[in-house]
Amino acid sequence: MKKPDLDSFFDYVEAGHEMHKFISELYPICRSITGNGVRQTLSLIKKRIPLEIKEVPTGTKVFDWVVPKEWNISDAYVKDPKGKRIIDFKESNLHVVNYSVPVRKRVSLGELMEHLFSIPERPAWIPYRNSFYKEDWGFCVSHNQLLELSEEYYEVCIESSLEDGHLTYGEYYLRGDTDEEILISTHICHPSLCNDNLSGIAIAVSLAQHLSSVSRRYSYRFLFLPTTIGSITWLALNEARLSNIKHGLVLACLGDPGISTYKRSRRGDAEIDKVVEYVLKCSGRGYKILNFYPFGYDERQYCSPAFDLPVGCFMRTPNGQFPEYHTSADNLDFVQPGALADSMEKCVKIFDLLEDNVSYVNQNPKCEPQLGKRGLYQPLNRKSEPPLEQLAVLWVLNLADGDHSLLDIALQANVSFEEINRAAHTLLQAGLIK
Ligand code: ZN
Repeated sequence: MKKPDLDSFFDYVEAGHEMHKFISELYPICRSITGNGVRQTLSLIKKRIPLEIKEVPTGTKVFDWVVPKEWNISDAYVKDPKGKRIIDFKESNLHVVNYSVPVRKRVSLGELMEHLFSIPERPAWIPYRNSFYKEDWGFCVSHNQLLELSEEYYEVCIESSLEDGHLTYGEYYLRGDTDEEILISTHICHPSLCNDNLSGIAIAVSLAQHLSSVSRRYSYRFLFLPTTIGSITWLALNEARLSNIKHGLVLACLGDPGISTYKRSRRGDAEIDKVVEYVLKCSGRGYKILNFYPFGYDERQYCSPAFDLPVGCFMRTPNGQFPEYHTSADNLDFVQPGALADSMEKCVKIFDLLEDNVSYVNQNPKCEPQLGKRGLYQPLNRKSEPPLEQLAVLWVLNLADGDHSLLDIALQANVSFEEINRAAHTLLQAGLIK
């Protein structure tokens, strides 16, 4: 019996609102590549899925990198001579350059300006900046606010710590009927930014919840990691089990109003590449396909030459290509429940298709089997073409050689995957394919 599709009876509209609610819960937390903001985020995820939280000590060597010192922050501000906080971390965590070292001193306006960042073209927005691998400090402000600074001296204070500690990440392994794995990876290191990447976190959590409630051929591994150093660390610690990974997706920027974008794996013709492209084509909505390029998110690490895993990146508008990117305008209004619902629906369809995309072998490959005696023959129609159902049966019989997946057959026959899948189930029941 064919299992029920993953997307039957799923309310995407409701899921879109649920995900938006979860994003608002995560939004205020000051995250970074290490530290308590990450732990707090992972503990909120753990309330929804049984996440394993892993801690990797500072100084651990991971390929060419080293796990950095852990960063934490409790407060930061710039005060004017009257003692008024004119830049306040407590109003927005974007105000502090992420990973700033502690500082407390009186500075001239000139010195302060060397540590201030703004976006002149978007004068009302606060930029997001970090200094992960160079010890420095700074503040981010709207350009309007920067232009108002006119006092001679200011008091700056960043109550942060940068000390030996841990890099924290979350992993959820969902066992299926086989050890073959689908990897779903998303980054958790950005502070109050919604599309990049609370949207990816919310979609990954919803997918994990949904997939855990249905039968699965594949096992699924969900990774919630700080970008770059997190995936490098995970790959370094799990090199021995990478051969189980048959397909993978990096999830990022999935809640903006733009169209869906898929960035292919480095291989370019992996099954995941074909499946995502097919699902997007069938959605009837706009989409864009990009070839692999070696910058962006953690697909860079999964697709590094020694691993070359079949992992693509699923987004809406890619990083850097929407004006709100890495600014305070990537907020709760920018991500929309409808866009989250649409991304979720496409993800579910992608995994549904991967689950169904089997390669069969014809058990009667010497000439066509006699379909009539099995009740599988339908008379020709008036145009003397076989009806679609019959055509699908013939295509499956001809291409079921163990090499062609059902999607390969659908694409070559120019018949829908559903029709080919139906034909395969008919032939399976008749014992003609295995
Ligand atoms: Zn980013």
